[in-house]
Amino acid sequence: MKEYEIINANAERVATAIYDGIGDTMPSILSLVRWTEENFGIKIEIRFWDTLRDGHSGFVYPDPKSGIYKIGINSKEIDYRQRFTQCHELAHIIRNVGLKYGLSCGETFSAKGTERFCERFAAAFLMPAEIFIHEWKTIREPELFKKVRLASFFKVSGEAVRYRAKELGLT
Ligand SMILES: [Zn+2]
Repeated sequence: MKEYEIINANAERVATAIYDGIGDTMPSILSLVRWTEENFGIKIEIRFWDTLRDGHSGFVYPDPKSGIYKIGINSKEIDYRQRFTQCHELAHIIRNVGLKYGLSCGETFSAKGTERFCERFAAAFLMPAEIFIHEWKTIREPELFKKVRLASFFKVSGEAVRYRAKELGLT
């Protein structure tokens, strides 16, 4: 397996385990925040900024004074993108703090590898494989319409659906 394939597989494994652990019928970011706070004994604060430069979707850092993990989201981006970014930033926290609690996200050997993990985590959490495959096979429409339907079903971008379908070997 190539390094990126291992990272993708780890992101899929961790996102699935957390989604299953939460037990919601559809992925919810609020649940993911609560799960992370409760399981790791930390506090997370998400704020939306309209002052971030274009192309800068979000950031996360632990505030040394309060001990709170602060997530910032670029509110000028479309809703779907903001949802994805929130999951991406939460993945950074889960990677950093999780190991202390026995949750291994696998090693990444570069900043790029870590970013890949967080992107794939967000995709796998927001579009759980089992539901995605089920919906994909249930919707009897040409592929283009199917992708549009799935994007609104999962509240993600069309591009995210396209990538996910490919990743799950459906196209
Ligand atoms: Zn990142």
